[in-house]
Amino acid sequence: MDAEVFRAWITSAARVIEANRDHLTQLDAAIGDADHGINLDRGFAAVVGALRALDPAAAAPTTPGRILLLTGNTIIAKVGGAAGPLYGMAFRRAGKSLADAADVDLPALSAALDAALAGVQQLGAAVEGDKTMVDALAAATRAFSKAIAEGASTDDALSALAAAASAAAIATIPMQARKGRASYLGPRSVGHEDPGAASTALILGALRDAAQAGQ
Ligand SMILES: [Mg+2]
Repeated sequence: MDAEVFRAWITSAARVIEANRDHLTQLDAAIGDADHGINLDRGFAAVVGALRALDPAAAAPTTPGRILLLTGNTIIAKVGGAAGPLYGMAFRRAGKSLADAADVDLPALSAALDAALAGVQQLGAAVEGDKTMVDALAAATRAFSKAIAEGASTDDALSALAAAASAAAIATIPMQARKGRASYLGPRSVGHEDPGAASTALILGALRDAAQAGQ
């Protein structure tokens, strides 16, 4: 997967976040402060602008790692609340993990996603079951590593990644939140999908779609 696939991922993530902006904001209205969709949409729109501004004639062609670093830096600058720093950390750690590679294979992408998860957990101090984006990201990275270890194709490994993230987001519905603003609600947080897990599933679904379209 080259820089074009990563650019297509982030562009596709921006589109899917925009299409789900109101849905994500409604999820956040139930157990948070009703800004998740609005904030993420603003952040990803800024990322798309920053990616467009990359000079295609630059002496050093851009790399997957640089695209993810730019994504993370832009999100940190544009998205407030908890989501901005957490997603910013995730994309920055993934970008650093990919370093200067021009082409990313499945094990390198798996390592980058593991680095993203570790960064999010370090910053947010959340573990699985706390009803946060960690639930979706951890389940997805685990399913991805397992698929790769079993010799899955790129298509199948990314499908496993996206499917695990979606299932994990839905699985946050019966959980009681133990981290973030939703945790202030105690038992009243039960019965609602976590907005961060939902947006993580959308973003990882966009990765599957972009990689499949690029083949
Ligand atoms: Mg919020």
